[in-house]
Amino acid sequence: MVMAAFHHHLTTGDTWLARHGLELDGRPIAYFCAEFGLHNSVPIYSGGLGVLAGDHLKSASDMGVPIVGVGLFYTNGYFDQKVNLDGWQTDSDEVFDLAGTPIQPLAGPSGEEWITVVETSGRPVHVRAWKMMVGRVPVYLLDTNLEVNAAEDRALMNKLYAGGPQLRIRQEWILGVGGVRVLRAVGIDPAVWHANEGHAAFMFVERLREHVEGGASFEGAVNAVRARSVFTTHTPVPAGHDFFALDELERVSGPVWTSLGIDRSRFFALGTMPGDAQNFHMTVCALRLAARVNGVSRPHGQVSRHLWRDLWPDRPWEAVPIGHVTNGVHLPTWMAGAIQGLLAEHLGPNWTEHIDDSAMWDRVLSLDHAKLWQAHLWLKRILRDFIREDARHRFAGQLKEAAAVVGAGALFDPDVLTIGFARRFATYKRANLIFSDIDRLRRLCTNPDRPVQVIFAGKAHPADTPGKEVLQSVYRYTRDPSFEGRIAFVEDYDMHIAHLLVQGVDAWLNLPRVPLEASGTSGMKAALNGVPQLSTLDGWWQEGYDGLGGWAIPTGADGTSSDAQDAESCYRLLEEQMVPLYYTRDGRDIPLGWVERMRHALRLGGRRFTAQRMLADYVREYYLPASRADLAGDVPPTD
Ligand SMILES: *Cc1c(COP(=O)(O)O)cnc(C)c1O
Repeated sequence: MVMAAFHHHLTTGDTWLARHGLELDGRPIAYFCAEFGLHNSVPIYSGGLGVLAGDHLKSASDMGVPIVGVGLFYTNGYFDQKVNLDGWQTDSDEVFDLAGTPIQPLAGPSGEEWITVVETSGRPVHVRAWKMMVGRVPVYLLDTNLEVNAAEDRALMNKLYAGGPQLRIRQEWILGVGGVRVLRAVGIDPAVWHANEGHAAFMFVERLREHVEGGASFEGAVNAVRARSVFTTHTPVPAGHDFFALDELERVSGPVWTSLGIDRSRFFALGTMPGDAQNFHMTVCALRLAARVNGVSRPHGQVSRHLWRDLWPDRPWEAVPIGHVTNGVHLPTWMAGAIQGLLAEHLGPNWTEHIDDSAMWDRVLSLDHAKLWQAHLWLKRILRDFIREDARHRFAGQLKEAAAVVGAGALFDPDVLTIGFARRFATYKRANLIFSDIDRLRRLCTNPDRPVQVIFAGKAHPADTPGKEVLQSVYRYTRDPSFEGRIAFVEDYDMHIAHLLVQGVDAWLNLPRVPLEASGTSGMKAALNGVPQLSTLDGWWQEGYDGLGGWAIPTGADGTSSDAQDAESCYRLLEEQMVPLYYTRDGRDIPLGWVERMRHALRLGGRRFTAQRMLADYVREYYLPASRADLAGDVPPTD
């Protein structure tokens, strides 16, 4: 029965795309990304970018948007996190077990394993592909771990984002060049090519080569590639963009310019930028070879136009042709079953077909307080049970100190206002901001009548020592007895833990230093579960904050604020608004004012921050015009 319904879903012509009369000329969109967060069992993602890419494909499948994913297959996935008793993160790898995943090797025309060859570092590297279906969307994952390859090449895809630039550039070369070739091998001729972040920009170069080898001039090839290309940038700071020394690129690419009919310097000019002629910038290359470019939230579009203004010296920066498509999250993945059930009851059984109807989302404002609160408490208990079990397992047999178990959250109390903070431990995300006044935080946490508990999770990049230091400082407070077990750390943040947290905490905390968060998506996941967020006005929150579905840490008139100011605002919002609201109960012990915020969070998330809305924007504003190879005017900024 379930399978029959699923099959119907995969083959039916009644899709969002068909219902809206949108035609993509029968050819798919190729979506390239260095990581995909599709499911916990396939650990080829590190964080937000990968999970977003996974949500993109899942929504495309739901909506009948023809798309194929292209990525890399990392044998050891991303690292597993262990935090020692001293709070220092150690990284370990487990080779992941293919048997437990829906991944199949890609076969060639006569059934043998499909293999292509990519020239790199002066020798041929054999590349094979694995195929995985995400609903009706195929994803091709490239892999060089083949016996014919030199040991160094076999190990290329061992790990995601590990190793220095020498390894990364080779991974990215394989992704771009090998990715185009695998699509050709399976007979796919995409109408649109989408590079999700600069890691995939060599895909544009490989397509230049195809056009030139097919007889086009270099200029003709550039125009042809640009016309059908979409590029999404995710990083608001210059240092976050990949770049490689020119001689490094030359070592990897070889004299690729000869097959492009140009000389060396003209090839490098694709990726150099004013003020830096020594490095090849992946984002710059993508900006030059994709006619349609977007940032991932309204403020990030603006930041990106400013960041890349030097590439368009003839324009005022406001007219730099970079628009935005605000990120969104895949509702069926992130909204808890209990909340979905509540909505089905309240909005009618077919509510999922009307996710793009904002009037429907207005109706969640009349959700029954008691029912929403009950559903939330149920999810909170699931989180509690997980955390307690996890603490028990982690310290079974090595129980050195009771404080360690406390720090892992064994004292989690479902009656206490619970705040979740889970994300990569990059310093700009400021996980330690709420510790800037220890006494004040301690008073909040240990108030006997109205206590607060905070649960942290997140990995620091293995090479990010400052990030690991922030993690360590946070971790030490989990074991400080004066906090009475009210600060906890959950190890090894991944999609599974993300689910439990965004569904089970009372409020979501997000403290990026403005304007360094391009979008952020975990707060959207929380909102879809009726979990309001407290955040600086950055990324999606700057765009979405409506004064009702959460709380905002204000910025000064110039759009910035200091750490001290932000910490002060954060404490005050907690002390003066959130804690009183949470503990003000009616005769049934329901915090009506708090549940009001929950209803607004749910409405906000549903109306504006689902991946379905995101994909609809991509289809209408980017994919459809690109599929017509329409170069008439580049995308204007959409403000
Ligand atoms: C959603 C998600 C992220 C991204 O969250 P941000 O708010 O963008 O930091 C990272 N990791 C996992 C596992 C996620 O599910």
